[in-house]
Amino acid sequence: SYRKGGYHAVRVGDSFASGRFIAQRKLGWGQFSTVWLAYDTQTSKYVALKIQKSAPEFVQAAVHEIEILSAITENDPKNEKCVVQLVDHFKHRGPNGQHLCMVLEFLGDSILHLIRYNRYKGLCLNKVREICKCILTGLDYLHRELRIIHTDLKPENILLMSTVNPSKDPIKSKTPPILERPEGSFPGGGAVNVIEKKLKQRARRAVAKIAAERRGMIGCAPEVKPERCLDGIDFSCKIVDLGNACWADKPIAEEIQTRQYRAPEVVLQSGYSFPVDMWSFACTAFELATGEMMFAPKPGPGFSEDEDHLALMMELLGKMPKKIAIGGGLSKDYFDRHGDLKRIRRLKHSSVSRLLIDKFKFPETDAREFAEFLNPILDFDPEKRPTAQQCLQHPWLSQTGPKTVAEKSNPVG
Ligand code: ATP
Ligand code: MG
Ligand code: MG
Repeated sequence: SYRKGGYHAVRVGDSFASGRFIAQRKLGWGQFSTVWLAYDTQTSKYVALKIQKSAPEFVQAAVHEIEILSAITENDPKNEKCVVQLVDHFKHRGPNGQHLCMVLEFLGDSILHLIRYNRYKGLCLNKVREICKCILTGLDYLHRELRIIHTDLKPENILLMSTVNPSKDPIKSKTPPILERPEGSFPGGGAVNVIEKKLKQRARRAVAKIAAERRGMIGCAPEVKPERCLDGIDFSCKIVDLGNACWADKPIAEEIQTRQYRAPEVVLQSGYSFPVDMWSFACTAFELATGEMMFAPKPGPGFSEDEDHLALMMELLGKMPKKIAIGGGLSKDYFDRHGDLKRIRRLKHSSVSRLLIDKFKFPETDAREFAEFLNPILDFDPEKRPTAQQCLQHPWLSQTGPKTVAEKSNPVG
């Protein structure tokens, strides 16, 4: 992809915008761009530089993303709405063409990294609550104040806020420092590196404690508990990747969203609006709490990925109301006139709370309360789904477990 019309090749130390930004290291990449950590010599801060591919369709996509990001930034002067901000944008000419570049505030690793980091075991519910509040704050802002639908909400597109601000590093020479990454750390920003350090410290302490106890009472060493709750680590996060976002009155593509987070009205092509983001939000919250995707459809003998997806939804959430099942552009392909799937006949019925208890070993109360929060957001009828603003009022979010006091008295950063 590093050819005419494609990515711009960057080397550490390259400068952009007449010397204002200096490339430090690559943060990530996607279908449209490469993203670099860069030093802003004008503000002495670090930023994320998103350098778009140069072919006309990518330029057009970047113009759209800049329009959306500008609205997000202009209407949030205090930077408190949990959506990434645009610092600046400019054109950069290179051997592969002219690239539109977006200067974004520098954020940390994605919460997908966090899920992986926790070895897919799920985060404790207090952390899930904190992250849910951030995501809902961001969605409420996008939906209610700006009338923007994100259309691609998922763990990969929620980035942690860096708890260490690299711009506080002393700058000893004229050349800005290249951030050093501890060995074995995750790519991306600082937040997970801090978590990693804490976990290592804690693991060392646990081993020392067990060794001490062994010395006293051989044979009675306590079990080493796997790390589940990242206690004492405060973090918040932001919604990113507005490349697929659209104004609610100007929907873009018909097929939106990443498969596993796709709402039923998108699968059935019944038209869509803000509630599609709410569906993806519920899938994301479930994944944070369990470490596993809520729906991971696959095509099978005699049925498509779409049909498996619809079957999985109905196994977990009950039968789809007939009105919804037969109301979409693709309904006739998948459902008979009674509203039953044509090609997948026997469904194994469960429920969110049963799944949380049986498969993920949640205590019954936790499972019931979390399911009570999620179930309304997973209504097959998009008009019945609560809005982000309504979800923010849900008692589950303000509930606190026994860990919270300790967390507050032990902040990080
Ligand atoms: P996609 O194919 O997902 O649409 P894209 O080309 O639009 O990709 P992004 O998803 O915006 O690119 O960014 C690619 C990656 O760069 C992200 O997954 C993330 O790892 C990193 N990244 C993006 N924005 C930031 C930021 N503000 N701070 C830190 N890292 C970032
Ligand atoms: Mg992305
Ligand atoms: Mg994108």
